[in-house]
Amino acid sequence: MSKQSLLDSMANGKSRLPPEQRLRLVRTGMSALAYVMWGVILLLAHLRGWLELSGFQVALFFVGIFLTNLVFALLILTQRNLRFREPSMTMPQIAVAIIWALLVLAASPEIRGILLLLLFTIFFFGVFRLRTGQFLVLAMLAILGYGAILLYEAADMSRRELELQLLHWAVMATVLLWLSFMGGHVASLRERLRRALAERDLAARRDDLTGTGNRREMQASLDAALAQSRESGRPFSLCLLDLDYFKQLNDRFGHIAGDEILRRFAERMAGTLRGLSGDDVARSLARFGGEEFVVVLPDTDLAGAFRCAQRLREALTREPFEIAGQSLPVTMSVGVSEWQPDEHWEGTLSRADKALYLAKERGRNRIEVVENR
Ligand code: GH3
Ligand code: MG
Ligand code: MG
Repeated sequence: MSKQSLLDSMANGKSRLPPEQRLRLVRTGMSALAYVMWGVILLLAHLRGWLELSGFQVALFFVGIFLTNLVFALLILTQRNLRFREPSMTMPQIAVAIIWALLVLAASPEIRGILLLLLFTIFFFGVFRLRTGQFLVLAMLAILGYGAILLYEAADMSRRELELQLLHWAVMATVLLWLSFMGGHVASLRERLRRALAERDLAARRDDLTGTGNRREMQASLDAALAQSRESGRPFSLCLLDLDYFKQLNDRFGHIAGDEILRRFAERMAGTLRGLSGDDVARSLARFGGEEFVVVLPDTDLAGAFRCAQRLREALTREPFEIAGQSLPVTMSVGVSEWQPDEHWEGTLSRADKALYLAKERGRNRIEVVENR
């Protein structure tokens, strides 16, 4: 990323960043706040002479902590974190914070009891996000790091002092291990909730009987196609499909067979749409109601939509549906229309409806087009 675009992204950071990136930036800000909180305590401890650090060393700490936070914030602002396996960078952010805490811990035996709390503040940033395995890795970093510090200092300690320090260490290890499993459990609940919501969202956009999009999905596809066409100036087109004499089929073979026809019909149409060349165009099939379906063709003109309708009609008439041992030939009529600049998709849809009416009037099992206004 060039310097200019970095400045741009910083200046417009709020408006340009996608929501999940904004959330990551907020979370990084929250962790920076925790650093500030602990920085104030560190500074007080330094002023009271409780730290075995010179003023210069304390300043070095602050500069280092500021720079690591800056790196994480810049990674998010420039969107470079999106290339990582875990764009949230929760693991590295916590690991870095643990290392800073351990350095402070090593430098200040006198206030070590308080600083243990600091470690727990850090781990709470991961408690609802990380899987148990990831959490255990970070817990091990803290437990072994702190253990190494104690080992290094053990020679200079009285027996009683050493026992007290080991107690601290054991409490920390126990709590962190407990947090790992509790956090992992909460993370798995979060994941289940996320999946359930995704399934519910999908179900809310699907038609129960045929599995195609429903009216809501159709409106979303039309909104998207319209927005794309307004931006590019190239039209989208619509095919409105309606089965011929479906009421008669229902009356002769029963409603259950009628439902099965609708299901197979939708399946065949969806399969044909998938098989058409130019797959970059995300065509969508939605049930408009009853035995009527809409195909939205983004970035497609009238001629392209007409060809698509032909393929769909051929796919339908190629072979009858075999249902309950009976061979049921089904045909459809199709109305095709192309979006005109400055119109809403309702206008385009209403022209497709007019075209469909014409197709019915002119004998059914055919495709009609209402020419542009
Ligand atoms: P046309 O060729 O003019 O389209 O004749 P048609 O009989 O298909 O037209 P019409 O719109 O009058 O009838 C549609 C019928 O579709 C009415 C209804 O019985 C049937 N239908 C609508 N929804 C369903 C459904 O979910 N299942 C079944 N089995 N039938 C349905
Ligand atoms: Mg019909
Ligand atoms: Mg109808």
